[in-house]
Amino acid sequence: MTKWVYSFGDGQAEGRASDRNLLGGKGANLAEMSSLGLPVPPGFTITTDVCTHYYANGRTYPPELEAQVEKALEEVGRIAGRRFGDPERLLLVSVRSGGRASMPGMMDTVLNLGLNDATVEALAADADDARFAYDSYRRFIQMYSDVVLGLDHEVFEEILADEKGRLGYDVDTEFSADDWRRILRLYKERVESELGEPFPQDPRKQLWGAIGAVFSSWMNPRAVTYRRLHDIPESWGTAVNVQAMVFGNMGETSATGVAFTRNPSTGEKALYGEFLVNAQGEDVVAGIRTPQSLTEAARLETGSDKPSLEKLMPEVFATFVKTAERLEAHYRDMQDLEFTIERGKLWMLQTRSGKRTTAAALKIAVDMANEGLISRAEAVCRIDPAALDQLLHPTIDPDAQRDMIAAGLPASPGAATGEIVFSPDEAEEMKARGIPVILVRVETSPEDIHGMHAAEGILTTRGGMTSHAAVVARGMGKPCVAGAGTIRVDYRAGTMSSLGRTFGKGDVITIDGSTGQVLAGKVPMRQPTLSGNFSTIMEWADAVRRMGVRANADTPTDARTARSFGAEGIGLCRTEHMFFDDDRILAMREMILSDTEEERRRALSKLLPMQRADFIELFEIMAGLPVTIRLLDPPLHEFLPKTEEEIAEVAAAMDVDPDRLRQRTETLHEFNPMLGHRGCRLAICYPEMAEMQARAIFEAAAEAARTTGAPVVPEIMVPLVGIAAEFTLVKAMIEKVGKEVLAEAGAEIDYLIGTMIELPRAALGAGEIAREAEFFSFGTNDLTQTTFGISRDDAGSFLEIYRQKGILEQDPFVSIDVEGVGALVRIGAERGRAVREAMKLGICGEHGGDPASIAFCEEVGLDYVSCSPFRVPIARLAAAQAACRGE
Ligand code: PEP
Ligand code: MG
Repeated sequence: MTKWVYSFGDGQAEGRASDRNLLGGKGANLAEMSSLGLPVPPGFTITTDVCTHYYANGRTYPPELEAQVEKALEEVGRIAGRRFGDPERLLLVSVRSGGRASMPGMMDTVLNLGLNDATVEALAADADDARFAYDSYRRFIQMYSDVVLGLDHEVFEEILADEKGRLGYDVDTEFSADDWRRILRLYKERVESELGEPFPQDPRKQLWGAIGAVFSSWMNPRAVTYRRLHDIPESWGTAVNVQAMVFGNMGETSATGVAFTRNPSTGEKALYGEFLVNAQGEDVVAGIRTPQSLTEAARLETGSDKPSLEKLMPEVFATFVKTAERLEAHYRDMQDLEFTIERGKLWMLQTRSGKRTTAAALKIAVDMANEGLISRAEAVCRIDPAALDQLLHPTIDPDAQRDMIAAGLPASPGAATGEIVFSPDEAEEMKARGIPVILVRVETSPEDIHGMHAAEGILTTRGGMTSHAAVVARGMGKPCVAGAGTIRVDYRAGTMSSLGRTFGKGDVITIDGSTGQVLAGKVPMRQPTLSGNFSTIMEWADAVRRMGVRANADTPTDARTARSFGAEGIGLCRTEHMFFDDDRILAMREMILSDTEEERRRALSKLLPMQRADFIELFEIMAGLPVTIRLLDPPLHEFLPKTEEEIAEVAAAMDVDPDRLRQRTETLHEFNPMLGHRGCRLAICYPEMAEMQARAIFEAAAEAARTTGAPVVPEIMVPLVGIAAEFTLVKAMIEKVGKEVLAEAGAEIDYLIGTMIELPRAALGAGEIAREAEFFSFGTNDLTQTTFGISRDDAGSFLEIYRQKGILEQDPFVSIDVEGVGALVRIGAERGRAVREAMKLGICGEHGGDPASIAFCEEVGLDYVSCSPFRVPIARLAAAQAACRGE
C-alpha cells in the first residue's frame, strides 16, 4: 500500500531531510529536526504525490488517505497528550503548504484549526485566558473563511473597525473577552449570511476543508506566476503539513519570531532576526507591528528602545542560540528559522537554507570554507552564477550629491533610479514602454509580484527586513528600501510625501538598497568591480575550472571591462561594429557603392589605417592574450541609409546622385538578409574587402608585438562557412596577405585561421572543414536560428506563446537547445577533432554567458566560452561549477 502520510515528533520521524521531493522542503526539515531531538510540535506531512494524484483525478484523494491521516492524527494526539476534536483534551492543529522549492507567501495556511463553539471554551479554560481563546477563534474564522470558504477577509476587518469605532478603542488589544464573544457572533452571522450556511463546527470537516484548500492553492494565480518567474515545474506539487498548534500569543511569556543564523543581507556571522511578544506566526512577516531584535547587539545598532529576546527571555534565548548553531552545523549552510515560544518553552517550526543577497552568499561561502565547514569547491558551488548579476550592477557614486527624501531599511542592495509608480500594473505598463520605474507601496503582498518584477527597485513605507517586500526583492536581486516610515503614500492622489516635500507619479527618484536611502532625482552611479569575497570566490573558481573564459569585445572599452572581470582573451571581435563611426561610415558606403574593383580598393584604403589602429589598441589591451577577429559578417545593406531623408543627406555628403544611391540600396535589398549575401560570401565575392581586413590585422599584430614586447597571437575567423571549399578559398587569401605583410615588416607572428561553426551544414561537414581550419568557434546564435528556422530578430513575437503552451521550456536563443542545436555542436566538435585532434574549440554565441549552456559546453569538452564582458564573472563561476559536477 502506498504511504501517503509521514509522521514526526517526540524525537522521531518517518521522513528525512533528503525526502524533500516527496515531503516538500518544510516537511522534510521538520522530520529532520524532529529526528535530531529538537523541540518540534508533533505533526505529519501529506506527500506531494497526493497533490499529483489530486490534480490527476479531478481533485480527489487516494482512497487510503483518510485512514492514514486518522492514524497520524492519533499519533500526534498521543505525543501531545491530547485528542483532535475532544473538548476535554483539546488538540488544535495548523495546516500549511510546503513544496520542494520555497514559494514564500504564495500558498495558503490555516492556524488554530479545530476550534468551534464548544472547544473554544475548553481552550479558554485550558489557557486560563478567555480573551486569548476568543481571539484565537476569531482569527481562525477569519483565516478559514478566507482560505477555505473564499470569503474576503475585509468582510471581517469591517466588523472589527465598526466595533472599535463604536467602543472608541484604538487597538485590538483593548477588546475584552465579552467584546470578542460578541464579535465572534457577528463574524459567524456574517459567514452564514454571505455563504448561506453556518461556519463549520465539525473539526474533521474543517481539517479536510483546509487540506483541500492548501492543495488547491498550488494552482492559484499568484502561485502560478511565481512558479513561472522562478522556473518551478507545475508537476512538483505541494505537500501539506498538519502540526499540533503551539501558541506565541498566550501572554507576555509567549512570542513568535524568525531568524537567520547569519545576516542574510551582509553575510556577517551573527544571529539575526526579529520577534514579537504575544503574537501569532504570521504577525511577524505581515509587517503590521514593528518587531524587536533578537540580540542585544542588534537592538543597540537599530537604536530600538524595545528589549531584545536576549534580555527579555535569557534562558529561552540561550536554548535558541544553541539550536540555531546546531542546525547550521548539521545542514552546513546558513539557516532561516521560524520559532514560537509558548509560555517560556521554545518550539521550532521551520528550518531551511536561508535566502540571501549575493553579497551575503559570497561572504558566507568564503567564511564557511575558511571555518572548515565546507570545502573551497563547495563554496564555489554554493553561489548561483546568475545571481552575480546583482553585483555587476551600478551602485551610487560615493562622491555624488545626495538629496535625501527619506530613509528606510537597506532591505536588498544595489541602487536604482526610475519614475515613481504606485501600482504593480502601472509598473508593468511602464516597463513595456521601456521606462524604468520605482514601485512605491505602503507594503507589498504576493499580488504585487508582477509589478516588483517589472520595477527597477522597490520602496515601501512599512515593514521590516523580513517583510514581504524585503524577502521577495532579495530573491529577485532587486534593490529595495523597506519601511521608510516618514513617507506617506496617498494612492488616490498618486503622491508620496516626506518631511514636507511631495512627489507625484512620474517624478524621478533613486533608491539605495545598500544604505536604505531614498533620494530625489537621478544620481550618478559607479560601475562595479571585483573585490573582496567576490574576487576570492573567483580565484577559487579559476582553480577548479577547466574551460577558458573569453569575452566578445569590439571596442577598447569592452576589452578593458572584459580584462578587469578576468577575461582570458577575446573570443569574438565583430569587426562590422567598427565601421559605424561617423568618420568611417562614409568610406564604407563609398566602398559599397563602387562599381569597379579599383574604386572599391580606393575606398578600402581609407578604411585600412583606421581598422589597423583599432586592432593595435585591442592587441595592446589584451597584452599577449589571444584575440579572435572575425571578418566582416553582415549583409552590406545594413551600412546604407534607409529613409528618403537619410538617402538625401548621405547623397549630398558623398556628392553622388540620390537616385544612384537609392538604386544601389534597392539592388542590395534581400528578402532574407540573414540567409543572404553575408558572412564569408562577402569575402568570396569581394576578396579585396577580406584582404584589407587581413592586412589590417597582420600589420597591427606586427606593430603591437613591437610596442608591447609581448607575443601577439591573432586568430582570424571566417564567418558563416557552410562548405569546406568556402573556407579554403578565404583562408588562401588571408595567408597570402599574411606572407606579404610579415615579409614587409620583417616580423614573425604566430597566427591561426579558423572558422565559425554557425550553420548546420558546417557542423555536419566539420570533418572536411577541419582539414584546413585551425580552430572552431560555435556561433550558436546563427546555429539556433538556422537549426530551428526561427529568425533571431522576429522570434519574440511568438516564442513567449510557445513557452506558455509548453512547446519550448526556454527561449533557445538564451539557453542552448541541447537536443537539437546541442547535438549539432557535439557533432561539429567530434568530427572536427577526429581530423585535427588538438583543435581549439570555443563558443561565442550568447549562450557562452548562460550557466546552463556553459555546463553543456563542459560536457562536450569545448576549450573555452566567450561572452559579453559583464557576464565574464558569471561564466568563470559557471565553468567552475560545471567542472566540479563533471568530476
Ligand atoms: C553567432 O551567430 O552565434 C555569432 C556569435 O555571431 P553573430 O551573433 O554576430 O551573428
Ligand atoms: Mg553569427
